[in-house]
Amino acid sequence: MNFDLNRLTRENIKNLKPYSSARSEFSGKASVFLDANENSFGSPLTKWYNRYPDPQQWELKRKIASIKATQAEHMLLGNGSDECIDLLIRAFCEPRKDNIIICPPTYGMYEVNAHINDVEVKEVPLLPNFQLNLEGLENTIDENTKLVFLCSPNNPTGNSLNHEDIEILLNNFGAIVIVDEAYINYSRSRSIIAGLKDYPNLVVMQTFSKAWGLAALRLGITFASKGIIDVLNKIKPPYNINGSTQELALKALDNLEDVNTMIKETVAERQSLVSQLVALVIVEKVYPSDANFVLVKVTDANSIYNHLKNQGIIVRNRSNVILCDNCLRITIGTASENDQLIKALNFFNL
Ligand code: PMP
Repeated sequence: MNFDLNRLTRENIKNLKPYSSARSEFSGKASVFLDANENSFGSPLTKWYNRYPDPQQWELKRKIASIKATQAEHMLLGNGSDECIDLLIRAFCEPRKDNIIICPPTYGMYEVNAHINDVEVKEVPLLPNFQLNLEGLENTIDENTKLVFLCSPNNPTGNSLNHEDIEILLNNFGAIVIVDEAYINYSRSRSIIAGLKDYPNLVVMQTFSKAWGLAALRLGITFASKGIIDVLNKIKPPYNINGSTQELALKALDNLEDVNTMIKETVAERQSLVSQLVALVIVEKVYPSDANFVLVKVTDANSIYNHLKNQGIIVRNRSNVILCDNCLRITIGTASENDQLIKALNFFNL
């Protein structure tokens, strides 16, 4: 399949002369910075907070790249992966002309972001086994389809998508295929990042909000070819990753072992929670999960959701989502949180 990035990029973005910030115009050594209208006298916090942060976050990207076995030039950092989704849609989709494809049930922001940008959303639901409907995708992709959003492991179903299916899409269609790997660290299957070498139309998204435990910092990563990253860089806000996020993420990256310990704990708790859930009379099915949550089919999702809420326990009611009739999505908590959940659900066993 011939991949033509030039054809996929919006005309106005191709012609855009991006904003050039003071800090990106200068490189080299200097001791007096009078170029960015910062407060030269300091800040009420740490001294350096008065300065704009590195717009390209090179130190942070290099450190992430060394862990992910990729290169800093193949990455764009976003204010959460939610910003990455928005940048992709704005760079490639012409409002009222182009479309994106999503495979519901899936993460809601692909659709919301497309609608914010007045971009059509075509739906090709997953098969009942929560895998891709390749025939449906083939019949739906048209010459105005710019992006196909896939999520693996998928939210809210928890399963990983077959890589062979994703590769069929990458090999046969000219659109950009985005694989959102927000939950990859909890998965038995490997990341598709290595595929970036073979597929110029592949984009992989990851986030610091899940396994890294840093949802409050708002830091997401887009991995892609240099060509795609260059397009996204043209439209990103100049200082989209704030200085304290850059500083704290650099510190966090020194603690890989702590993160691996939390991942192991989460997976162990997932196993234990699943075995307790399946024993409940109200539980009809617990879907296998490669994520830090489980999708649970229950007898009556609405009343169970309300009962839990009255006990101060909040889960996600997904029962009005396609293929998720009477399903609750439950995040894996700590051992004590999971105990409280099971205790509250035991009410229905009496
Ligand atoms: N992708 C998926 C699949 C998600 O579930 C979420 C958040 N729940 C996100 C992306 C957004 O992540 P971030 O916090 O990096 O914006």
